Amino acid sequence: MRSKKSVPAILAALLLLLTACKAKEPEPYQTQFMAMDTIMTLTLYGGDAQSAAALGVQRVQELEALLSVTAEGSEIHRVNCAGGQPVELSEDTRKLLEDALALCAATDGALDVTMYPVVRAWGFTTGEYRVPDSAELSALLGHVDYTSVSLEGSALTLPAGMELDLGAVAKGYAGEQLMELFAGAGVTSAIVELGGNVQALGAKPDGSPWRVAVQSPDGGGYAGVLEITDKAVVTSGGYQRCFEQDGETYWHIMDPATGCPARSGAVSVTIVTDRGVEADGLSTALFVMGRERAAAYWKEHPEFDFILIGEDGSVTVTQGLETSFSLLGSWAGSPLEIIRR
Ligand code: ADP
Ligand code: MG
Repeated sequence: MRSKKSVPAILAALLLLLTACKAKEPEPYQTQFMAMDTIMTLTLYGGDAQSAAALGVQRVQELEALLSVTAEGSEIHRVNCAGGQPVELSEDTRKLLEDALALCAATDGALDVTMYPVVRAWGFTTGEYRVPDSAELSALLGHVDYTSVSLEGSALTLPAGMELDLGAVAKGYAGEQLMELFAGAGVTSAIVELGGNVQALGAKPDGSPWRVAVQSPDGGGYAGVLEITDKAVVTSGGYQRCFEQDGETYWHIMDPATGCPARSGAVSVTIVTDRGVEADGLSTALFVMGRERAAAYWKEHPEFDFILIGEDGSVTVTQGLETSFSLLGSWAGSPLEIIRR
């Protein structure tokens, strides 16, 4: 009798143990560090997460050393001091510049990798903010023109007086490179946050999508949440870096047509797509374009989706995010427009 009773008891205990094991999420490995002027967080599951993360940190630091526009030893700095002479680029810089130039052309110059003299004049790289007058801006805009960047093989020639800045796409490239590195190291599931850039490898370990918050442009809190798998989610927001003077707010996203902070009606643009570089470049470009131009661009380029928050509090979302994006908290009642092809 006693032995008969104990069999189901043992089975039940085993089952309990098994379900307990199953319900327990695997522990992530997480690391946080400063690079590219922002806080970066890497979260990885599976494989040898810890050594993959260490390689990831190293890779980002290597890219920063190449791409920084302010660090004296960087490749970009060398390019900007070349005085019109050709410079041989590393493979990373060459690839990124090639993709960035394609985005400059596709967006009709809303993204322009030669905006640096203007960005510097406003003080965004030094923190010594000022409002340049229109004579100064028009002189500086004479040195802004991505179509005069010549890239032949790995040889870059920049006209004397022009300067290159890949700041609008560098974190996107870093995100892409991290995904490649992690996948190669056997990591099955990872999410990285590089300032306003998020990129995910696969889904969460339990197979469910990652939940990525979209910041509220009015300061604290979140405007919404997105569910994604294997995507880059990049936000460009006027609130991220800005200063105030005489009651006017000036931010770091510049309209190459005017040399002034872009006033398109957008206060935040989030791009969702497979590639980090595209997500990053387009978040800047669509911010410059504003809602109408952004919608027209999206209709002609099917490979991404966006969320645009307007100065008037309106939220515009493209069709592909209809079921994966929801507004949160006080934003839940905001007018939400879905645009379709
Ligand atoms: P963040 O770097 O804050 O994530 P973005 O990806 O939008 O923001 O990039 C903005 C940076 O790119 C600016 O700090 C500036 O260096 C540069 N930049 C600003 N406006 C433009 C533009 N229209 N085209 C290319 N680069 C830009
Ligand atoms: Mg960008």
